[in-house]
Amino acid sequence: MKRDRSKELFSAAQEVIPGGVNSPVRAYAAVGGDPLFIREASGNVLIDEDGNRFLDYNSSWGPLIFGHAHPRIVGALKAAAEKGTSFGTPTEKEIQLAAQVVNAVPSIETVRMVNSGTEAVMSAIRLARGHTGRDKILKFEGCYHGHADSLLVKAGSGLISLGIPGSPGVVADLAKHTLTLPYNDADKVKELFDREGDSIACLIVEPVAGNMGVVPPQPGFLEALREVTEKHGTLLIFDEVITGFRVALGGAQELYGVVPDLTCLGKIIGGGLPVGAYGGRKDIMKGIAPTGSVYQAGTLSGNPLAMAAGIEMLNLLSEDGVYDDLESKSTTLCDGFRANANKLGVKACFTRVGSMFSLFFTDQEVVDYETVTTCDTDLFRRYFNAMLDEGIYIAPSQFEAGFMSAVHTQEDIQTTLEAQFRALELAVKS
Ligand SMILES: *Cc1c(COP(=O)(O)O)cnc(C)c1O
Repeated sequence: MKRDRSKELFSAAQEVIPGGVNSPVRAYAAVGGDPLFIREASGNVLIDEDGNRFLDYNSSWGPLIFGHAHPRIVGALKAAAEKGTSFGTPTEKEIQLAAQVVNAVPSIETVRMVNSGTEAVMSAIRLARGHTGRDKILKFEGCYHGHADSLLVKAGSGLISLGIPGSPGVVADLAKHTLTLPYNDADKVKELFDREGDSIACLIVEPVAGNMGVVPPQPGFLEALREVTEKHGTLLIFDEVITGFRVALGGAQELYGVVPDLTCLGKIIGGGLPVGAYGGRKDIMKGIAPTGSVYQAGTLSGNPLAMAAGIEMLNLLSEDGVYDDLESKSTTLCDGFRANANKLGVKACFTRVGSMFSLFFTDQEVVDYETVTTCDTDLFRRYFNAMLDEGIYIAPSQFEAGFMSAVHTQEDIQTTLEAQFRALELAVKS
């Protein structure tokens, strides 16, 4: 497969952009070679600058649950753009999207729009600290909550892939307020809360971990978090930036029936434009400015283009059968992956919740950061490159989720499974 043009562009990019990329996960640090430069995309197909076509299972890292350039989203964007791209005033579209979010997500009574998942989480943490008057926060190893200072502690895929344990530039005096525990270990959480629960402002968790590969919550884990936080007056924050509108219209909180105090959203909510949001109980949310004193603002927050794309995305997702269809296609794909691995005698662990899934090259059951990092990342590197040569695009790291979209067809899935068998065979042999 010819990739000359991507190679040239990557050289040019490195002259003017640090590392040639605007987000480190886009560099192929963990898999070798140069990143693909994508020229255009439509439906579930990416076309790179050399004209190669790839079936896409990365979905721009999750947002594009209805594929690329969906005609209804493009239509909504065109209509909005012609009426002006930003007013710096409230608009009706913001009410419309907020109402859709409030209707869909169980814990959300009011919601504030921001411009990224990072900003949503950062703001929710500030609100939780302001609301409780406490400084400490608890997060889990391998969960990623964006790149705000307090949260870049044992923080998942981007850092694991680059081998960075924490991050220089994060003030130690701030990071010391961030406590971390292993994911899925409810006993350790209870012990910690027995000791110092009354000084913890919030516990933040990805209700399905998606940034160390997909690690589902074990039965009872989320319920235990709800119980212990309630007991100690600690706010429970679900970071549903990936799982929101992905594993169910109401996110993981709908799927597992556990309702947090605050919820962070991003990715899908923007329909492919940069949007984040945080919301929750009214009595907590009223603590942010202008009604409260916890300050948070944004020049382009609630931007009319972003709102138009988000509204149309949620309209599409509200139609009958969308999640059943995603579930059945994802089951077919993951069952096929497993059958291929078995046929080839490859030791692997498969995880899936709805349309997010992972294939881990390990013989262990993956439940937390420690078990995730037992994976054979060399095998993954060969597998990734073999998949690329077969025209299948997955995230360039072992520690990322794969995503099914509503526009993948059963035929695409069969094509993928045949390609995956050949890629896996090659990866194992070489
Ligand atoms: C992607 C992600 C974020 C950060 O969102 P950005 O829009 O990249 O800032 C936060 N939390 C989770 C769970 C994510 O997957």
